[in-house]
Amino acid sequence: MSHAVIDYRNLFALDRKVALVSGGSRGIGEEIVRALASAGASVMLTDILADEGHALAKDLRGRGLRAEFMRQDVADEVQWEMAVAAVVAKFGGLDILVNNAGIEKQSLIADLCFEDLQKVLDINISGVLLGCKHAVRAMRPGGIAGKGGSIINISSIAGLGGIPALSAYTASKGAVRLLTKSVAVECAQLRTAIRCNSIHPGLIDTQMAARFLQGFVDLKLAESVQASKEAFLNQVPMGELGRPQDIAAAVVYLASDAARYVTGAELHVDGGYYAM
Ligand code: NAP
Repeated sequence: MSHAVIDYRNLFALDRKVALVSGGSRGIGEEIVRALASAGASVMLTDILADEGHALAKDLRGRGLRAEFMRQDVADEVQWEMAVAAVVAKFGGLDILVNNAGIEKQSLIADLCFEDLQKVLDINISGVLLGCKHAVRAMRPGGIAGKGGSIINISSIAGLGGIPALSAYTASKGAVRLLTKSVAVECAQLRTAIRCNSIHPGLIDTQMAARFLQGFVDLKLAESVQASKEAFLNQVPMGELGRPQDIAAAVVYLASDAARYVTGAELHVDGGYYAM
């Protein structure tokens, strides 16, 4: 019996796909933007950091890739409507949304500042939910993009279990884990051809990670940044921090047709942290 030969290299390619990445100006988001563009996608990157975002888009265009920057605060619904409309107008569709923008505030629970809590919840939960809402409206049959797509929400290992001095952040990232599953089952059952998955990075070498390690020193939970880092790495079987590329590669997989049957999943990219 003859068997059709699938070109698996093509299955992972993102040619002719259009992506929107929030918080894409630096850190993990920057690497996600670079990865999606180099895999063939046209990328609209958004962020509140405008100078870095414009510079990144220009750099990618200089390499012959397709990228544009737009300023966007993910906590503002009107700005989501504008971002989705802008990406469809610029690149002719929307196939991939990466809800990457997120903030972290460290504090002991007894000292939790209400304004900080509200900000974390607004950006990390409302920002992701609003992104899902407006991407689904555009991607579903009859929407302005209309061809289905892949939504990828960046949660964290802090969305899987407790971490001291991180209650607001863990609450928000735990919410991202479960809202992802609700969006996934709803979109699948309504036959929208939209998939939705979450990625759970371990500690990744970015400015956020540096602030996280320093935070334990500031709160007198560690003697030095080095001690803070060693204490964390003792819980990581692979014994090292992750790199932004590790997360970007996982995004490319979930964005691609190789993940056609994957929805509602949580992909741990954490050096084995959660397996312990
Ligand atoms: P990052 O270096 O702080 O970058 C996050 C980006 O999002 C920044 O450019 C930030 O701008 C932007 N941003 C903040 N608030 C925004 C808003 N309201 N609207 C739009 N953009 C906004 O963080 P990262 O380490 O790359 O983290 C990216 C994602 O991965 C986050 O969701 C984070 O929670 C998650 N994560 C990170 C790690 C890690 O170890 N780094 C681990 C697990 C999960 P400003 O700099 O001006 O705030």
